[in-house]
Amino acid sequence: MNILFLSSEVQGLLKTGGLADVARALPKQLKQSGHDIRVVMPCYRSLLGKNFPVVLPTLIVPLTPTDNYYCTVRQTTLDDVPVYLIEHNHFFGRHGIYDDGEQGYHDNALRFAFLSKAALELSRALDFQPDLVQANDWQTAIASYYLKHHYSYDDFFANTGSVLTVHNGSYQGKCSGDLRYALGIAPEHMQAQAFEDWGQINLLKGGLYFTDKANAVSPGYREELRQESTGHGLHMAFTAKGEDLVGILNGCDYGEWNPATDPALPFHYDADNLTGKKQVKLALQQELGLTSDANLPLFANISRLTGQKGFQMLVPALYDLVNQGVQVVLLGSGELSYALQLQEIARRFPDNVRFIYGYDEALSHRIEAASDFFMMPSVFEPCGLNQIYSLRYGSLPIVRATGGLIDTVEALAVDESNKDKATGLSFEGFNFHDLAWTLKRAEWIWYNNPELYLQMQQQAMAQSFTWQSACEQYQQLYKAAILKACGLA
Ligand code: ADP
Repeated sequence: MNILFLSSEVQGLLKTGGLADVARALPKQLKQSGHDIRVVMPCYRSLLGKNFPVVLPTLIVPLTPTDNYYCTVRQTTLDDVPVYLIEHNHFFGRHGIYDDGEQGYHDNALRFAFLSKAALELSRALDFQPDLVQANDWQTAIASYYLKHHYSYDDFFANTGSVLTVHNGSYQGKCSGDLRYALGIAPEHMQAQAFEDWGQINLLKGGLYFTDKANAVSPGYREELRQESTGHGLHMAFTAKGEDLVGILNGCDYGEWNPATDPALPFHYDADNLTGKKQVKLALQQELGLTSDANLPLFANISRLTGQKGFQMLVPALYDLVNQGVQVVLLGSGELSYALQLQEIARRFPDNVRFIYGYDEALSHRIEAASDFFMMPSVFEPCGLNQIYSLRYGSLPIVRATGGLIDTVEALAVDESNKDKATGLSFEGFNFHDLAWTLKRAEWIWYNNPELYLQMQQQAMAQSFTWQSACEQYQQLYKAAILKACGLA
């Protein structure tokens, strides 16, 4: 298949979260499966300096019958996959990606609608006729609409199917209804089943309506999207897709995330020999100025600092947890209010808690390897990658039972009846008491039942969530989308 893959971020070029990991690993796997896949993303400010070669000096992008935009297209290659970078400095040459540090950019809808349209125009300019266009999240969701309604006259896209992958349904790309014309949305498509959302435009909702097929990044999240309480206000739109919306669990790129070979680690290890894990832990403790003692359980968290990740529960639970017998390491960037709260805990417990404010990929690998428990008390979690990395790195995940966290972590039952397959701990309630209790339980297991800890660690490290398996499901979905687009299903 010829696949055009649209994403606002790609690991290795620009990453703010899990979308970037998927936009790197899935195309790589599809390429290895024999498909011709091309990725399109913006040429952000940080990428301009890299001076990637220009493949098209000028691409004209008509968003409306009267608004032509112009951009330059650069190209690089990741894992043998061509990645096209859309250079438009007014839209993408900014300091931030989606926001200025405090607020989302006021013209986000226009910026990313432009990206979506530019990707389609680019495929025409390159004479790369896509069998399938995959959009990802709200940023590129409108691509399916453009395919169906801006190019309905165009044989080039006559048999092109579309898939929209929902990595996080809480971000929807809402903007004023006044932008309808500027975004190229026809008046008849500004209705409640399509783009209209209480008078505003909702790009995710509209894209979902027009796409041939859609998927959530885990089966659990697919179910949650269809429920009123967890569907981010769009449960009716998700339910209306019926079987055209499926759940495909993300894979893990074990080439990147393997403690036996990870270049970011000072020592290596695997399930058969954990000496290296202890050494990484001692090294990290030293690096961060914590007491170097492998016997102290190290609890970690690496995350975007945002409400979704459960900091409103984690902060008070940490006050309950921290004592002389545990260490806590937190790495995160994002909302300042959470950063200040975490900084305050670190200030109050200088012997036990470290908080690193920032985005540091190499450090994130060292923390995964050094830690004994990984905390993910998310309010919701479409798939979650860090718990998957933690499993492989032998850091037992402690998760709230939601979305992809349920699909990937076998939580130890209260009576331990499933201890022969348990890989982590979980709690259900959306309150800090349940989390605090679960953190204490983890500490208790560490000190009082080390055999159980080791058994769970072995079971965790044996888990495998490969992209091969996810990729097969994506290929099925693509085929179904193409059949639908061709009117054959
Ligand atoms: P989300 O996409 O909601 O942010 P995921 O768990 O799916 O959550 O993916 C997060 C990805 O971003 C992981 O690869 C994680 O290691 C990485 N990450 C998040 N915050 C940081 C940070 N401050 N420094 C380094 N990596 C981070």
